[in-house]
Amino acid sequence: MITLALSKGRIFEETLPLLRAAGIEVLEDPETSRKLILPTNQADLRVLVVRATDVPTYVQQGGADLGITGKDTLLEHGSDGLYQPLDLNIAKCRISVAVRSDFDYHAAVRKGSRLTVATKYLKISREFFASKGVHVDLIKLYGSMELAPLVGMADAIVDLVSTGNTLKANHLVEVEHIMDISSRLIVNQASLKLKQPALRTLIDAFSLSLGQDG
Ligand code: AMP
Repeated sequence: MITLALSKGRIFEETLPLLRAAGIEVLEDPETSRKLILPTNQADLRVLVVRATDVPTYVQQGGADLGITGKDTLLEHGSDGLYQPLDLNIAKCRISVAVRSDFDYHAAVRKGSRLTVATKYLKISREFFASKGVHVDLIKLYGSMELAPLVGMADAIVDLVSTGNTLKANHLVEVEHIMDISSRLIVNQASLKLKQPALRTLIDAFSLSLGQDG
């Protein structure tokens, strides 16, 4: 049995066409099913539905043989013991710094002010601001980061941006583009040895539908 860990939402939806190209259909919809283990049309492949931030843990611990996760999650979580054969180029977005439109970020940085930054990406933020020599106090949040500058809790946020509509709706502007993000295939290294033929076939099928070398 091969177990693939996926998170609901954008990653799940954008993975379906890749699975389909490999002849795999997931037989239940995680948005309507309460099941956390979903069968597929391949008797030896099942899908686990887990929180996005838990995908690397499931794969590292062997609860799943492989998974699909954003580069943001991997950088934040760490990727020890994970084999990363493919960038799937799905769930593409960027991670950026945003501030209220009336906050002069560049002047604050130039003056060497200490910035308060709200984010769920503590590691990425710490490394990014350290590389610029900007002093920051980080506030860890788990969601709705956009609120923090609006209520005066932070000068800036570090968050994922796709269309920019969420920032615009909350009168925030993007002032730094930290990095581009996409989702990657991650594989448990022990599984890769123990279940080599089946996993290789799956990785090769993904690779073929992307037009990349596995
Ligand atoms: P947008 O309004 O299209 O810029 O999307 C921004 C909102 O969607 C923010 O709340 C982000 O945290 C979230 N978001 C954008 N892209 C992704 C992604 N690839 N994966 C998960 N969340 C995302």
